[in-house]
Amino acid sequence: MEHLELQTGSALAGRIALLAAHNQLSHAIILTGHRDLIAAGRYLAAAMECTGEHPPCGHCGPCRKVLAGIHPDVQVVEDREHKMISMDVLRALRADAYILPNEGRRKVYIFPDCTLLDAKAQNVLLKVVEEGPPHAAFLFSAQNSAVLLPTVRSRCVEWNLGDEDQAASAGDSRAEELCALLDRRDTLGLAAFFTDLETRKISREELQSLLEHTWELVGQSLLAASGCGGRNLCPHLSRRQLSAAADVLRDAAAQLRFNLGVGHMAGALAVLLHERTGR
Ligand SMILES: [Zn+2]
Repeated sequence: MEHLELQTGSALAGRIALLAAHNQLSHAIILTGHRDLIAAGRYLAAAMECTGEHPPCGHCGPCRKVLAGIHPDVQVVEDREHKMISMDVLRALRADAYILPNEGRRKVYIFPDCTLLDAKAQNVLLKVVEEGPPHAAFLFSAQNSAVLLPTVRSRCVEWNLGDEDQAASAGDSRAEELCALLDRRDTLGLAAFFTDLETRKISREELQSLLEHTWELVGQSLLAASGCGGRNLCPHLSRRQLSAAADVLRDAAAQLRFNLGVGHMAGALAVLLHERTGR
């Protein structure tokens, strides 16, 4: 349980919980940065195997097994006999990936150190990452994703946990302010908050990052409201309201990738957040 406790209070935990709740965890994720990437990998694997109501619940059989490192469908890929991970290990893995899980919903392969995969090894993995069976998931950990080939990287989503922490501290106060406004369901305050951002000429990227960070904090609050511990920044909102707010924030952040103006988005978001988090 140590690993779960390690991560539960974090924005990362909020992100994983929200994606898991919507069944939107990618099957191939690269975790980069300087945090405990193996713990993060196990937490993610638990979210993929969890049978509880709010994955990763940390209490169900699959969660416990994953976090204890004894789940038969979650494999930490190592090669104790060689310095680098050998072709034999990878070919066996590739064959294994096509066999249905023993008891879990997914087969999860955690690569704790991608510097142990040379170019040849990565090429062996490429095809199964790209077009493997839907139950197979690959979690690559690396301090720097540049150790992976561009062809591998292009098939994965990348989460930089180091940057996330920095961005989190920079955007923390605004994201927390937004959570407080949501918690009070303060429509005027929300409108003023976004008008202020617009006046300051916040960039699309900054707004996107703010929305994503707020989304993670709302996810973290949802975990807390579900009894999983951690910080609840919106104690007055029900789980349903938190979940609705998370959806609005996520959709808005996704839409900002396209060509909606910041001003338009800020105004629309204030209205939506109020409506969707209503009674
Ligand atoms: Zn669980």
